[in-house]
Amino acid sequence: MDARLERIRETAVSGGKVSREEIIFMYDYVPLSRLGPIAHEISREISGDHVSFVSNMILNYTNICNVRCHFCAFYRTGKEEDSYTLSIDQVIDEISLYHDKYGITQLLIQGGVNPSLDLEYYKDLFSEIHRRFPRLGIHGLSTSEISFISKKSRITVADLLKELRNAGLQTIPGAGAEIFSDEVRKKIGRPAGSGKEWLSVMESAHALGIKTSATMMFGHVESSGDKADHLLSIRELQEKYGGFLSFTPWNFEPGNTRLQHESGIDYRAGGDAVLRNIAISRIVFGRELPIIQTSWLTNGVGMGQLAIMFGANDWGGTIYDEKVIPATGREVGNLRKETIIRSIKSLGLVPVERDNLYREVRTFSA
Ligand code: SF4
Repeated sequence: MDARLERIRETAVSGGKVSREEIIFMYDYVPLSRLGPIAHEISREISGDHVSFVSNMILNYTNICNVRCHFCAFYRTGKEEDSYTLSIDQVIDEISLYHDKYGITQLLIQGGVNPSLDLEYYKDLFSEIHRRFPRLGIHGLSTSEISFISKKSRITVADLLKELRNAGLQTIPGAGAEIFSDEVRKKIGRPAGSGKEWLSVMESAHALGIKTSATMMFGHVESSGDKADHLLSIRELQEKYGGFLSFTPWNFEPGNTRLQHESGIDYRAGGDAVLRNIAISRIVFGRELPIIQTSWLTNGVGMGQLAIMFGANDWGGTIYDEKVIPATGREVGNLRKETIIRSIKSLGLVPVERDNLYREVRTFSA
């Protein structure tokens, strides 16, 4: 194993491409303690002792969704008492609660695929947010929402993206990637073809110069080969346009989901899986996709710190007002900027606040 792992290290450190078989080997046979130092070495070469974070909030503007994924505890059909859709005024009020008080520079805005909303709602929504908060980077809509709006409006995804960009949309989050394999998606209740659709919407955005994020959801019914294929699909698209700003692997949260009831997956993936996915994604993406983000929201602050030592170089955000994870029964709360700064500094590293486009806002020297 030592010789094979050393060859992987040499390939990754010199900027070469790790193969599918090597990725599966790292998932199945290499102890985490051996992957961590390789990932950390690459990470430190890319960003030195700097670890970035963003002051952001997540606004889930509607929980009504007609996709109904089996792993999701957040969606409602529209008939339940707690179904909701925020008006534009309510969205502005919600942003106002956090924007000035916490110096928010990124708004992550997404919700369900709500069939009653049309393109005009989104254009008016983004225009008004942009008018009221001109320095706020709007990081909005999943590929599922974008596909649905384009079909409903009978325009191409590219034309829709141009309209949304003109209205104020700056970047697109990577939600909905899960695992691209159709076999897996069938089992977790995602429509067949939706993995290809995710890649296609992202490619349309990248071709227009709109930057996006990428993600992977692990810890359900996927195999190591499925994860390898997922990572390689993202790497392939990144080589074409360089349009992904960051990658975040996160673990399935089973609480209150149909997948939990049907598959008997009662527990989320443990620390080894969380850190292994961070480390392997760093080794696979290297400088090609330089930002790997911790998923502190699902794993807590302590695991966020460990992720930094296993290849991540971006903390993610303060995430005020998130509602999707609490729907699983897991209370996460908000994270003050000061806590992130303290958590990074206590690792002997330098926190750098960034904006939505990863431009430096302020460095907090040790
Ligand atoms: S994950 Fe998104 S698309 Fe799937 S049911 Fe939940 S809100 Fe709808």
